[in-house]
Amino acid sequence: MQTMLSSSDWLIEETQFNLDEANFKETIFTVGNGYQGTRGSLEEGHKGELSGTYLAGVYDHHDSTVIDQVNVPTWLPLRVRVEGEILDVQTCKVVEHKRVLDLQTGFLHRDTVFEDSKGRRTRITSIRFASFADQHICGIRLIVTLENHSSEITVESALDAHRYNLDRLPAYQGNPDFHPEVKWEKWAKSRHLKVTQSHASSDASYIEALTLDTGISIGMSSALDWPSFSEFKGANLDYEQVSQTISVEALNGQSLTFEKLVSIYTSRDLNGAELAAKCEASLETAHAKGFSACLSESAAAWRKKWDSCDCVVTGDPEATRAMRFNIYHLLIAANENDPRANIGAKSMSGEGYKGHVFWDTEIFLLPFYIFTQPETAKALLKYRYNTLNGALENARMNGLKGAQYAWESADTGVETTPKWTADGANRIWTGEEEIHVTACVAYGILSYVAATGDKDFLRDFGAEVLYQTSRFWISRLEWNKDMDRYELTNVIGPDEFHEHVDNNTFTNRMAKWHLEQSARVFKEFSEASSAVHDELRIRLDLTEKEVDNWLETAEKIYVPFDPSRNLIEQFEGYFQLKDIPITEWDKNRMPVYPEGHDHFSLNGSMLLKQPDVIMLNYLLPDEFSDEIKKANYAFYEKRTMHKSSLSPAIHSIMGIEVGDISSAHHYFERSAFVDLVNNQGNTQDGMHIASAGGTWQSLVCGFGGFRVKHGKMTFKPWLPEAWSGIRFNLKWQGNDVEVLISHDECRFKLIAPSGTKEDIEVMGHPVTLIAGEEAVLAPQPA
Ligand code: BGC
Ligand code: BGC
Repeated sequence: MQTMLSSSDWLIEETQFNLDEANFKETIFTVGNGYQGTRGSLEEGHKGELSGTYLAGVYDHHDSTVIDQVNVPTWLPLRVRVEGEILDVQTCKVVEHKRVLDLQTGFLHRDTVFEDSKGRRTRITSIRFASFADQHICGIRLIVTLENHSSEITVESALDAHRYNLDRLPAYQGNPDFHPEVKWEKWAKSRHLKVTQSHASSDASYIEALTLDTGISIGMSSALDWPSFSEFKGANLDYEQVSQTISVEALNGQSLTFEKLVSIYTSRDLNGAELAAKCEASLETAHAKGFSACLSESAAAWRKKWDSCDCVVTGDPEATRAMRFNIYHLLIAANENDPRANIGAKSMSGEGYKGHVFWDTEIFLLPFYIFTQPETAKALLKYRYNTLNGALENARMNGLKGAQYAWESADTGVETTPKWTADGANRIWTGEEEIHVTACVAYGILSYVAATGDKDFLRDFGAEVLYQTSRFWISRLEWNKDMDRYELTNVIGPDEFHEHVDNNTFTNRMAKWHLEQSARVFKEFSEASSAVHDELRIRLDLTEKEVDNWLETAEKIYVPFDPSRNLIEQFEGYFQLKDIPITEWDKNRMPVYPEGHDHFSLNGSMLLKQPDVIMLNYLLPDEFSDEIKKANYAFYEKRTMHKSSLSPAIHSIMGIEVGDISSAHHYFERSAFVDLVNNQGNTQDGMHIASAGGTWQSLVCGFGGFRVKHGKMTFKPWLPEAWSGIRFNLKWQGNDVEVLISHDECRFKLIAPSGTKEDIEVMGHPVTLIAGEEAVLAPQPA
């Protein structure tokens, strides 16, 4: 490896190349920095690769079914030839192969020995990075070592804009299993780019492409440094690709170093500057610094980031590594500098869900950012503010008032959910019916404000979102005169097995909470007589009478509940459905669909895809008694099939909360390793990034037992026998709290200006943290 590696609990390793696993590895070895994500494909490419670079916020529709996060020009290509013979995994024998993703520095290392058809062995090592110090810079250093021969080595470095997104596979009878070398060839492909400029010389190459519908220009400049004794063979302008080729007459044992630096900008970043000039200037700066300096700057920025968010499980290095792996992907998924972009369901590590943004952001991802890097959380929420017009448009299109957030959102906030499954066999109703997302956006805003105290954000951005979305609920709620209540009919709750249901409790209760909170915020700002808020009231023509009506309506929203059993009914009529028991589990102990059933045939049964009532109990901890939480966990957990990767983490947390610890550790592992071991079988499509956020919550809110209750930090930890302790940090009201929990003690340290105090609660006991002092307690129940 080209630089020193971190200790093994920071390393994700691959020790052989396996064609069947190559696409899943491309996902987990993604490098990125919030601005871009680049899948971990090999520099020389291979048949069957699923490569991709994605830029946050760069979407295009054109000829795809629904809008895509664009697969932009690739900066990876570095192809090595020995006497004209290409070194790649299909042409040559792979004698040795190892890749290591160092999570602490963000470097992807590679070490491969190829044997070509003449028996010549050549070692390729590389180090790849997407800079954390300058988000526009990335690069690869490739070292070619001749192990048993002297030969002419040529290296070609390219920027390739001949790219497309994968749209869908045509339906085939019997679901044939394609060979991994050709499995993507049958897919319908979507074009999104047109090359508008390209040039190459010995100094640098440049390519510029324009997205076809959204008109975003993407510029990439690259410079290659090569050994002084080599010969520049030329700069090529091929079809949609620019490249530079170098050749060296090299001797046995010799090592040749090639350093490729790349700069990326788009017209979204420019503020009037000229794109090519911007790319070239930034490349020049990086180049003048040198490759090694760029590497170390990036590693230093990574280390600094980790200070705020590292999580350690003592006694279980595998769990620590898995935590860091998930956090690494969370760190490269979000861009604190771009409040117009958000995180797609597969981050920028793959094309699953086409880069669309779901409730995943507010409910699964945001807690990690709120409590470790609030600036990033703020940028993610500003995206909702910046797409408010899209949300207003969604409501208008549905004949409603106010702002309705899209179930699947992209660049503008307008609804982008596909209407049909890729095979055309099933209608997808989530775009029309999974309306709870609007309350989840409000939930995200208010969670951020509660943890940071950032009232300015609430006044300047959050309030407008809260008010416009409250108007949506008021117009969407239906008055049932006979029952004297408000209802929401024809919806889908978080459990997507049940479509077209009436009065999904999660949706109704969250809408009620949303209206109450909006009214509270309105009254608080009105009492504080804020001029900015007054201006907002006037602009929105929002009166006290309208706000009072929010409260009156909220009070009458129907929340199905059976007091005799303490059970919340997931939706009206749910308790009358067929109670099909789960009788079979797979090798991962996850439920198997009952004979003859799949995702689309369970509407009439009580089986769930993922937590719905249990989720509600988790999100509103102040609103439900311990008895209710316990009864509902017991009832719904055994009916949940976990057919979404979002499911297990929440069950680990709520199991611990209600004292059913039997599966907590298992659920944690299911979530923490979902992508590391590809246990859903679809990691090739990208990271299950919501599960990564869920994993963080499982550790902190599950085992750490952390909740914000009545505006305070509270902890109720529990650890599995196999672990001796856990360690994590939380940001709270601009300060840091270090938390260390073991079986017999909890330690808290408030890092804050001297004199600062913070009242928290541990296992029901009130505790005051004092800046700089460590509070040590035994985790005994009150
Ligand atoms: C998901 C939905 C989504 C749909 C279309 C389904 O797999 O469960 O939430 O809207 O795909 O993208
Ligand atoms: C889940 C949704 C989720 C979506 C995107 C679906 O399978 O059911 O809750 O929002 O995936 O991650």
